[in-house]
Amino acid sequence: MAVLIRGVVVDPVSDEGQPAANGEIVDVRIVGERIDEIGPRIAQRPGDETVDGRGGPILPGLHDHHVHLWAWAAAAGSVDVGPPAVNSLDGLARRLRAAPGTWIRAIGYHESVAGHLDRAALDRLVPDRPARIQHRSGALWILNSRALETLGLDPPPAGAPLELDAAGRSTGRLWRADAWLRKRLAALGCAPPPDLGAISRRAASFGVTGLTDATPDQDHASLDALIDARTSGVILQRLHLMVGPDTLGPRPADGSGASGTTMPRPDPDSPAYPVWPATITSGPVKVVLDDDRLPTFDELVTRIGRAHSSGSPVAIHCVTRTQAALAVAAFSEAGAVPGDRMEHGSVIGVDLIPALRHLGLIVVTQPGFLHARGDRYLADVASQDVPDLWRLGSLLDAGIPLALSTDAPFGPDDPWSVIGVAASRRTAAGQRIGPAERIAPRRAFALFCGEPERPGRRRVVTCGGPADLVVLAEPLDDSLASGSPTVLATVAAGAVVHRADPG
Ligand SMILES: [Zn+2]
Repeated sequence: MAVLIRGVVVDPVSDEGQPAANGEIVDVRIVGERIDEIGPRIAQRPGDETVDGRGGPILPGLHDHHVHLWAWAAAAGSVDVGPPAVNSLDGLARRLRAAPGTWIRAIGYHESVAGHLDRAALDRLVPDRPARIQHRSGALWILNSRALETLGLDPPPAGAPLELDAAGRSTGRLWRADAWLRKRLAALGCAPPPDLGAISRRAASFGVTGLTDATPDQDHASLDALIDARTSGVILQRLHLMVGPDTLGPRPADGSGASGTTMPRPDPDSPAYPVWPATITSGPVKVVLDDDRLPTFDELVTRIGRAHSSGSPVAIHCVTRTQAALAVAAFSEAGAVPGDRMEHGSVIGVDLIPALRHLGLIVVTQPGFLHARGDRYLADVASQDVPDLWRLGSLLDAGIPLALSTDAPFGPDDPWSVIGVAASRRTAAGQRIGPAERIAPRRAFALFCGEPERPGRRRVVTCGGPADLVVLAEPLDDSLASGSPTVLATVAAGAVVHRADPG
């Protein structure tokens, strides 16, 4: 299979913020998953699929370095019950009662709406239908009594991950039990599997050619379903999955069954790299930190060491100052390997910057939250923490490898809007957070162009390079200024997965 993209300008996406393109119009021919030829007027061969680039720029496709595919797909069938859509108890009640379907699935909840919810509070709002509400952190589900009964969780069965009150009754709260809950719902026929195709097509329309799923502790069934979705073409992008080698068992030779999954692990440090034999790769081991149940320092050091000795880097979720400090201290003790990451880095004290740089940790961050949640931060976060929120410029200036991502569905899923916020640092209400951390839009775009396994290392459009590409209608600087560029075509792993006008 070959693709011929006609009439484009290669834009090298300089980190320094200047366009270095010479403006020459070229054609790009793709064979398999790689760029085979770049030059003026390449002859079309029989069977070539053609794309008219109309003189627009051709760029590395965007890789979204931190998303949660199942939660993102499920969010499409949910009602949003968090600010700014919902701001009061009355608003919450109205929104829940108007929700479609037998089951109510609500997401984005924050306690500023109606306090800390539990089963009893939810029963007062929705007594007659099963309802589940997810906290916007993604860490907590709250179920009402009808939902608990429908799922056979009242009284709580042994081993179910339910929070219990002093009397041993379920409070309706389930912490970090997303996969468990999804499985239980599916087993009882309560929830159709979410449509991964819709979010994948949406991402392709933004020019996204790769997705890193950062969900911790995915079970084999969830992983196999993701892999099947990619293999069957439901998911259009390359997938990089944070599973680590411990999760992976041998897969039956005929590829059937769900007993386990083997994915190729190209060695990014071998001279032959980048040679990506498949569109699915396994990523670092994800470690989630919660402030109210932090591991001890020794436990964390041991976990990092265990992952490293099995050949996998580690990605540690850090959304508070304490978590960032603990992660950096633990990496300092255990030692860091290439590919080790800090996810989010929402609050990074200035004192951590030298150690981060020394360790070479990649910070994979989401400035989109500044827009979506920034006004809430300014109300909630101690004023001395504000300059440390979602750092960008200071990390880049210190030489720390950085990559951007959306954290969809918890953050806005449009990477172009994330780039816009990286440059403006504006909240939805127009306030500015950490203006010194602003970065040029072109630089922000480059932070979406990292390699899946080494997000701090940028891909470029070059002969022999991976055919993960986006063609825009307007030059990159104009596209960035518009905030929502027209994507003429998206090519992921050599296949045209989106085009503005059907070929
Ligand atoms: Zn996340």
